[in-house]
Amino acid sequence: MGEEMRTFGYLCPKCGKTVMKTRSVFALAASGTEVECDCGESVLRIAFDGERYHLQVPCGLCGETHEAVCPAERVLEGATALTCAGTKQFCCFIGSEGVVEKQLRELAILAEKEQRQEEGEAFLDNVIMYEILSELRDIAVRPGGITCSCGSGRYGMEIRRSAVDLICRDCGAKLRIPAATDQDLDDLCCHMKLVLPGKG
Ligand SMILES: [Zn+2]
Ligand SMILES: [Zn+2]
Ligand SMILES: [Zn+2]
Repeated sequence: MGEEMRTFGYLCPKCGKTVMKTRSVFALAASGTEVECDCGESVLRIAFDGERYHLQVPCGLCGETHEAVCPAERVLEGATALTCAGTKQFCCFIGSEGVVEKQLRELAILAEKEQRQEEGEAFLDNVIMYEILSELRDIAVRPGGITCSCGSGRYGMEIRRSAVDLICRDCGAKLRIPAATDQDLDDLCCHMKLVLPGKG
């Protein structure tokens, strides 16, 4: 029988890397623990008062340290996530190794996207935007692929950071195509044709 283990994960606000460490339930119940980034600049503190855990979470999203108090079972059983007070996104994960690893990967992607947004890159996600534009091109070349319900087939396109707007040249109706996530791309790929919501 292996000892029961819990995995903790967060995003280091100093070096930007994901931190994932595993601790035994036995050690956690005895005294709490600390999980330190390999860069040595940030520490997730997990203290136990005999009833509840008091966590201090270095937050890779907003750069602050968040405090949380959790009942013992929330830390020792199942899977849980703690929320960043600033961004309302999850910034710390507790659970089995597989679950925490997956969540951390998504957190790293999110943080990278937000970072790029701050640096003022043209698109929230360049790859998704490129795929959306090429899909729109495919739809546009189909006969009647992009039309307006006012009867017009003339439209303009405005490319934004995380969306593409199709605008009817005759009635001004606008259809916004989100272009930020894989889901946005999947949604667009379902459409053989697009119809702008003009007055028909
Ligand atoms: Zn670090
Ligand atoms: Zn935060
Ligand atoms: Zn129209």
